[in-house]
Order: sequence, then C-alpha cells, then structure tokens
Amino acid sequence: MTMIRHHLPDALLMGYAAGTLPEAFNLVVATHVSLSDEARARLGAFEAVGGSVIDDADAAEMASGSLDRMMARLDMLPQANARAPLAGDAIYPAPLLDYMTRGLKWQSVGRGVKQAILKTDGAASARLIRIPGGQAMPDHGHKGTELTLVLQGAFMDGNRRYARGDVDVATEETEHTPMAEAGVECICLAASDAPLKFHGLLPRLAQPFFKI
Ligand code: ZN
Repeated sequence: MTMIRHHLPDALLMGYAAGTLPEAFNLVVATHVSLSDEARARLGAFEAVGGSVIDDADAAEMASGSLDRMMARLDMLPQANARAPLAGDAIYPAPLLDYMTRGLKWQSVGRGVKQAILKTDGAASARLIRIPGGQAMPDHGHKGTELTLVLQGAFMDGNRRYARGDVDVATEETEHTPMAEAGVECICLAASDAPLKFHGLLPRLAQPFFKI
C-alpha cells in the first residue's frame, strides 16, 4: 500500500459518505480511498455514523409514511463497489478507469503540461493532468476549492512534497506553483468547483477553451 502523508480533510470524507459532494469531488475521494487503507477506515467510520443517523430518521419517516423519500435518500449514498482496491501497480485506480474508458482527449496547456477533462455532472469539474518531470504548473489562483491527487511521480508545493495517493487541497486564498519532481512524468487527478484563474496572458486567453 502506498505511503500517504497528505490525506483528504475529514469534511470531504463526510461529504462523500453523506452523498453531498459534486461528482468530480466524489471521484477524487473514491480514488484517494482506493489508495489508502487509513482513508478507507476513516470513511467507514463516517459511513457508520451516517447509517445510524438514517436509522434514527427511519422511525420518524416510517411514521409519517414517507418511505419512498427515505429510499430515495439511500439511493443517493455512494456505492461500496465504487471503492474497489487498486489492482497491482496500475497508475489509474479502479474508480478512475470507468471515466477513462469514455475516451480521453489530451490538450496542451503550455510548458509541456497536458490535461484531459473527465465528464462529470454538477458544480465541479475533474481532469487528469500530466506534468513533465521538473516542470511547473502555470501560475494560477482559485475561485473555490481545488483537490489535486497524485497518481504517478511527485510534485512539490512550497516545501511540501506530494507523491502517489497524496492530496493537495487549495482554496480561494491559495496562490501556488506546484512543481513536478525531476524524472518521471507527474500524473494527477484534479477537481475544482470553480474555474482556475491563470495569471499569464496566454493561459488566460486560452482558459475558456480548456474549461479550467
Ligand atoms: Zn492550484
């Protein structure tokens, strides 16, 4: 199992357990959990708590005759099989493969960095990013929350190192320039709930075309 140093915040695991996250964030959580025994255990605990909350609501909902509504809520919970364990040392864990088989279109976003948008519903977007070893991501800010999960290689964000299974969480206040480590290409799964703001002129002009 991968040695993971940077975990998802509990709030995101809770949101996943409660079925309240946009699809793109669900995908990052499911992929992270598939790489981390610890994250899977924490998620299990939150799901157990969520289950007991539903059990409590059960009696009241039954009494008011709204079984259908309760069943609808249960349907919204994430499926257990979405977190199948990683087979072998494949780069892309199982939760991601489903999205990838729908077809990936890699686009160049400058400096040798490529990205492929994954088709997800809701208020957030997900993409795969490939950064050549030693290369930096273009300068950018965020208008929301950005999750970046490493699948291959590693990058530095400030003085923190992120390797396979680690998640970098950036918010509106974050201004950072993640830098891929020299050597193997760094491949990441990223999700954001608002378009990224790139500062350089060319990236800013290109932004509408890349939907990032
Ligand atoms: Zn960022």
